[in-house]
Amino acid sequence: MGRLIYLDNNATTQMAPEVLKAISEAEPVVYGNASSMHSFGREAGKLVEDARKNIAELIDCSADEITFTSGASESNNTVFMIAKALIEQRGGGRIVTTTIEHPSIIETVRYLRDNGIHVDQIPVSRDGRIKLDEMRSLMGPDVVLVSVMTGNNETGAIQPIAEVSKIAHSFGALVHSDATQAIGKIKVSCRDWNLDYLSCSGHKFYGPKGVGILFAKSGVPFKTFVHGGEQEHGRRAGTYNTISIYGTGVAAKLAMENIDEENRRLWKMREALRKGIVEKVPNVVVNGCSEHEFCLPGTLDVSFENVEGESILLMLDMAGIAVSTGSACATGSLEPSYVLMAGGLDVELAHGSIRFSFGRFNTMEDVEYVLEVLPPIIERLRAISTR
Ligand code: PMP
Repeated sequence: MGRLIYLDNNATTQMAPEVLKAISEAEPVVYGNASSMHSFGREAGKLVEDARKNIAELIDCSADEITFTSGASESNNTVFMIAKALIEQRGGGRIVTTTIEHPSIIETVRYLRDNGIHVDQIPVSRDGRIKLDEMRSLMGPDVVLVSVMTGNNETGAIQPIAEVSKIAHSFGALVHSDATQAIGKIKVSCRDWNLDYLSCSGHKFYGPKGVGILFAKSGVPFKTFVHGGEQEHGRRAGTYNTISIYGTGVAAKLAMENIDEENRRLWKMREALRKGIVEKVPNVVVNGCSEHEFCLPGTLDVSFENVEGESILLMLDMAGIAVSTGSACATGSLEPSYVLMAGGLDVELAHGSIRFSFGRFNTMEDVEYVLEVLPPIIERLRAISTR
């Protein structure tokens, strides 16, 4: 097989070898149900609790504030359902979120609106960051929940969560952040940001797929979303995905090591690719933030004039390079990215966007290969473009 380069780390990551080793060693021996009282169950339970401690350290909270779910989608849904229950209990109230959240929030907002819940969305600037003044003007004492993602999956834009939290709390609202894309790339702190809820997912930081994390600060309202058994103190039913939870704990430990160094390494590759594309390909627009401080370090989103993003994706795929158009979750639909449109990008450019997302296993050689392969692809596609 020819060269294969994976530049879709925001969609999901390859499991770290350390994680793979740990789970393959544990799998054959620790197979009890973590809720069982016998020794098999207790062994499994220990792995789950060890993982909880590691993850609590990673997101800076206490272990008993963590509930395991199936993924960040479920964690996000749970938080919005808590807000719905509060609004119904109080006989009124609103949710404030943004226009650029992941579909697991955007579609939940649609569902809630269809069910009579009032939701307002904070707009973003061209750089993908929310407008804090607009947020302030949307706030009021009736706001029950404010939910703003930490880092965007498409543009990489990092939001000012500590400030969001301060403003929201001054109005008595609860605060949630979907930190799925930020974990392992920037320091995330439930305590420093004074969050009430946080969602994330192990498969974005080199852990196994199918494990979500929901932080709920001690004492904040909670409502069970998945009913059934008494797992997670009745907060989330279902037999523990013990081995994958254990793997997520190992991944959390790894994510804490060298976070600053890895951040700089990712940014270096991202910047080399950005500069190379701008230099070698005419008529491109770089979407999202340009400052390291406000951008997830491994994310680069670029729009190519007069080309369809899907055509670029397919041609790159043939050359062994995996990227994404807008959001991987929207694959199969040819709708332009709502995230880019929310930032004011015109529809044609939104159609021509490609997201490159770097991870732990990429090297500068990958950047060089992309810069060799991409310019002739764009040239060829533009030559046959009917636009
Ligand atoms: N939020 C964000 C910002 C994401 O990028 C993703 C994954 N694409 C999710 C939530 C959903 O995560 P999961 O696949 O674990 O449900």
